[in-house]
Amino acid sequence: MSDCIFCKIVDGSIPSYKILENENCYAFLDIFPANRGHTLVIPKKHVKDVHEADAATYAHVASTAKEVADLLAAKLGSDGTTIFQMSREAGWQTVFHLHMHVIPRWDNDGLHKPWDIAPASEESLIDVAQQITK
Ligand code: AMP
Ligand code: ZN
Repeated sequence: MSDCIFCKIVDGSIPSYKILENENCYAFLDIFPANRGHTLVIPKKHVKDVHEADAATYAHVASTAKEVADLLAAKLGSDGTTIFQMSREAGWQTVFHLHMHVIPRWDNDGLHKPWDIAPASEESLIDVAQQITK
C-alpha cells in the first residue's frame, strides 16, 4: 500500500533497524521503544489488523513474534516478555499495518499494565460468557 510507512519499511524506501526477516514477515526495532530491544513484527504483505488478516498471515506473524521473543531473551538476557497487538483506533492502533510488539522485560523495569486490576462480578462474567461462547 503506497502510503503505508510499514510497507515502505518492507520495500526499503524508509530505513529500519532490521532484526530478522523470513519469507512472510519482517522484524525491526520500534524507534519509540518501551524498553531496550522493543521489536515490531509485521507481515510483508499489507494487511490492516487482526480482523482483516487471514488466519495464515496472522499465524506467520505470531510464530515470527515467538522467534523474536526467544532471540531477544537469549541475546539480551531479559527476564520476561510482553507481546502486544493493537487493532483499530479503539484498540490503540496508530499504524494501520498489522504488527505485534515484542517487548523484552526485566524485573522491576518500571513498565505498567495499561489497565487497572479489579475483580468482575460473577453476574457480569456469566452474562458476557453467555454472549460470546461458541
Ligand atoms: P501501534 O501504536 O500499536 O500502532 O504501534 C505503532 C508503533 O510503530 C509505535 O510503537 C511506533 O513507535 C512505531 N513506529 C512508528 N514509525 C516507526 C518507524 N518509522 N520505525 C520504527 N517504528 C516505528
Ligand atoms: Zn502496509
